[in-house]
Amino acid sequence: GRLDNTTVLVTGGGSGLGRAIVSGFVEEGARVVVFDRSKEKLDDVAVSFGEAVRTVAGDVTSVADNEAAVAAAVDAFGGLDVLIGNAGIWDFNASLDATGTDELASGFDELFGVNVKGYLLGAKAALPALRASRGSMVFTLSNAAFYPGGGGPLYVASKHAGVGLVRQLAYELAPEVRVNAVAPGGMATDLRGPGSMGLADQSITRAMPIQDIMREHGALKMDITAEHYVGTYVLLASKEAATATGAVFDISSFGTPPRRDLG
Ligand code: NAD
Repeated sequence: GRLDNTTVLVTGGGSGLGRAIVSGFVEEGARVVVFDRSKEKLDDVAVSFGEAVRTVAGDVTSVADNEAAVAAAVDAFGGLDVLIGNAGIWDFNASLDATGTDELASGFDELFGVNVKGYLLGAKAALPALRASRGSMVFTLSNAAFYPGGGGPLYVASKHAGVGLVRQLAYELAPEVRVNAVAPGGMATDLRGPGSMGLADQSITRAMPIQDIMREHGALKMDITAEHYVGTYVLLASKEAATATGAVFDISSFGTPPRRDLG
């Protein structure tokens, strides 16, 4: 495969896009450490993928848990070639006007803690191992990294912040470590929200017909699943993308409005 002899750490690999990345990467020959806060999801991953994966339960907002996840990759597979920062939460479109002040304040800390600080701490923990392997990082952003309307101000600002993080890390870590991002659009996953906003048990798939929304309102009129986005991660993680750093691949299909015939 395109990722033979490649060791990868995927945060938020327990479900949704992260799990699809784990599956696609294993198929391409990678050995994968899956880091997630849900032990239940990790048990299922361990059973599904067997010897190609190791699982680490922990929280991406914790320094110690990020370090333990990197150590697990080094212990099990002898090093680390790729960090996929992917664990994230959504704000379920909570708007400035409709959200209470205290909820907005606590929701900001929690959501930025996962979506931005989680990526920063993952990068910090993985840096020594990635420098040693001349490896790379790939972060999951979103259509919300470029355009409004894919969430409320908390989520949209967090994904815009991710663009800045990727560009700055790419700048600081060149020429040793490549840093890139993928911006997918909507997909039916278990995407949750901040517990401090009462959204820990809400899930995007239960909240809205997201696949129908993408088919009806997306430019490409497709039935889009998480699997459609995985190929870009494989590309960026592989030597095929040896010249790519500081790039954010917008594969959300929101960069152009849907076609319509006028007149
Ligand atoms: P998901 O909830 O199915 O997957 C996210 C995983 O991250 C879950 O397994 C969850 O347990 C884990 N996680 C959450 N917080 C964590 C924490 N603090 N520590 C450790 N693990 C944690 O959702 P998904 O849609 O697959 O989300 C993956 C990424 O895709 C996120 O960054 C999200 O913002 C992005 N994204 C999703 C959509 C969409 O429509 N679903 C669209 C664009 C971008």
